[in-house]
Amino acid sequence: MSTKPKPGPTTADQAGNTLPALRKAAAHCRDCPLWEHATQTVFGEGPAAARIMLVGEQPGDQEDTAGKPFVGPAGRLLDRALTDAGISREHVYVTNAVKHFKFELRGKRRLHKTPAQAELAACLEWLDREIEIVAPELIVALGATASRAVTGRATPIGANRGRLIEHAPGVSLLITVHPSFLLRVPPEDKEQEYGKFVADLKLVVPSAKG
Ligand code: SF4
Repeated sequence: MSTKPKPGPTTADQAGNTLPALRKAAAHCRDCPLWEHATQTVFGEGPAAARIMLVGEQPGDQEDTAGKPFVGPAGRLLDRALTDAGISREHVYVTNAVKHFKFELRGKRRLHKTPAQAELAACLEWLDREIEIVAPELIVALGATASRAVTGRATPIGANRGRLIEHAPGVSLLITVHPSFLLRVPPEDKEQEYGKFVADLKLVVPSAKG
């Protein structure tokens, strides 16, 4: 899958071959500076046998506090879109490319900050192992950071969304926007953009139903 950031076995390589073992090891990861100010590692969640894996960018403020991926406003929007697309979140594995919350303080508020390339590269060891263990037949990259993490290069969303891409033997990839994008679009565009997002997600329904 993606390129490993450093030679030799990574922390994740030495963590065992199950999701619980990986989660436990990731909780103590210090392989980039992001752990220092975040509350905790936010590891992926979902069935180990899931056919679909959703990959976001990084946990947000609420995810950092809860220790769970996609539980904040973007997560609630994702849940609604999955339901509207006919997909049960319980049947998909949901994770992020970067496992610690990166933010800047504005007064008391912690505002999302995009992870640097070096942080993304460092954290890929965990996503690579999640992909290896879950072995999904379809990966959904939500947003530019996720698509870069999964494909190993910058992949424009506009030019690549709306279709399944062959990613690896037996593995398809869907690239689409991150649900947080839908929270930021102007009110007059919200309905149309949400409809496009749901239409993208509908492409994975055959895999969701087996
Ligand atoms: S962001 Fe990823 S690589 Fe960095 S400390 Fe957290 S788990 Fe480790």
